Amino acid sequence: MSTMKTNRIRVYLEAERKRIGEELAISKSSQSLDDRREGSPFGKREEEATESMELEKRLALENRLQLMLDELEKALLKLGNGTYGLCDLCNTRIDPARMEALPQAILCLSCRQKMKNAKANTL
Ligand SMILES: [Zn+2]
Repeated sequence: MSTMKTNRIRVYLEAERKRIGEELAISKSSQSLDDRREGSPFGKREEEATESMELEKRLALENRLQLMLDELEKALLKLGNGTYGLCDLCNTRIDPARMEALPQAILCLSCRQKMKNAKANTL
């Protein structure tokens, strides 16, 4: 892979990492705001239920953002050690069209699918 192309991908991945990191930080800071409000006298049951649902949604979002961050981190690492574009599990070359559409991809489609299925089975 040409140095120019590598640099372009690195710039993209680093920008994404920054963007998602900020999104995660914002979500986490709004959570601490809620913690402070907890001692207020307005803690009606209904509100509490809504809040705990909101919290769950936010935690799910934060989970997803964290996974995206991990993937970006890994992709940057692979870019650095020359394994970028190779599947992290089976080591085969990932479809270039897939890499073009999803530069942070670290798994080939079939491994990705297997991971998804494995996760679905544990639920
Ligand atoms: Zn694979």
